[in-house]
Amino acid sequence: MNYGEKYSKLGNALEPSLIGQILKYASDPDAISFGGGVPDASTFPAKELADISRELILNESGYVLQYSSTEGDLGLRKEILNLLYRFYGIKGLTEENVLITIGSQQALDLIAKVFLDERSYYIIDDPAYLGALSAFNTRFSEFVAVPLLGDGINTDLLEEKLKILEKNGEIRKVKFIYVISNFHNPAGITFSPDRREKILEIAERYNFFIVEDDPYGALRFEGKKVDPIFKLGGQKRVVLLNTFSKVLCPGLRIGVVIGDKDLIKKLALAKEAAVLCSPALNQRLAAEYLKRYDLLEHLKPVINLYKRKKDIMLEALKKEFSNVEGVKWTKPEGGLFIWMTLPNGFDTMEMAEIAKKKKVFYVPGQAFRPSGERSNSLRLSFCLPPEEKIVKGVKRLKEVVEIYFNQKSNVLI
Ligand SMILES: *Cc1c(COP(=O)(O)O)cnc(C)c1O
Repeated sequence: MNYGEKYSKLGNALEPSLIGQILKYASDPDAISFGGGVPDASTFPAKELADISRELILNESGYVLQYSSTEGDLGLRKEILNLLYRFYGIKGLTEENVLITIGSQQALDLIAKVFLDERSYYIIDDPAYLGALSAFNTRFSEFVAVPLLGDGINTDLLEEKLKILEKNGEIRKVKFIYVISNFHNPAGITFSPDRREKILEIAERYNFFIVEDDPYGALRFEGKKVDPIFKLGGQKRVVLLNTFSKVLCPGLRIGVVIGDKDLIKKLALAKEAAVLCSPALNQRLAAEYLKRYDLLEHLKPVINLYKRKKDIMLEALKKEFSNVEGVKWTKPEGGLFIWMTLPNGFDTMEMAEIAKKKKVFYVPGQAFRPSGERSNSLRLSFCLPPEEKIVKGVKRLKEVVEIYFNQKSNVLI
């Protein structure tokens, strides 16, 4: 059987990601990888989770090993509302406003399925989160890409693009804007209060909704907490995505959608068609963990660990690159990523060949561009390498940039 002849349009479009191909060599023990955006496994509360799961399986097997409700475990949904109130002061919600998903990735997939057709538009930042791009791409929709500035998306440009769509009679096809308001992946930036207000105002004016993805909000090292757009705009305009992946552990695959209850019901129907329900065991495990321990307390040493690594990387970047003209990088107040931009004319995808030889790995900016254009930026993740390797890795990166520059100097100057 030649399966290829039988593929659907989507089947034909599915291709291995650039990241996978680039990071294939990053597991070499001499390699230093700033590539993977996964949390440090030493931060997972393994002992606590092991004890709870043993108890649950022994005492509640009829529930935790059984099928469960599509919307998700009631106790877990209550704990999540509690956390949202404690952390952001968000109140006035009930369990009906909460859907548990299999990671935020499933939430993105369900939103794509429920809202996007081939003739729909969504608005996305450039650079954008790869998981969102791959979920939305399965719908073959049109999109409006809006560049990121230091404090959020370029809202002036967004308005210009929307005006054009309005003039062409296409504005009703715009369904939503997707934003990561805190410690953006990959760009490391945080949306300012003004940008958040402005996005809300534009969404109200042009009548589309906002998908606010906030996996890193609780991983703030410094600066002042900013209200989520959800808190400003409410459930009629904003859908808030959360996940335990970066604050507890990604292996439980627990994501959360917070939104209008009719929307939650619709997304639950789509979830039922996809997976019937999330694993009851994982949900009870998370709910019990939240009941017995204080997640925000657990996060304090985790935040310290990431902050220290971030400071070491910023220090190393300053040492190696501060006198290289045209090089800049973001200084994140939280999260896991630094976004570095090299002078115009650099192509970080092409440069990755040299990086591979020097055994330092990063993700080229091109991987995060909605239209896949070339990029002179790259994503550096500081969460995984030990501290001394961060310093060494940045030194190697400097060598890579120099070699690339010398090879290309006729083109670059
Ligand atoms: C890591 C990450 C997630 C988490 O996805 P899960 O499917 O919950 O593991 C979601 N959004 C962004 C922007 C991320 O960086």
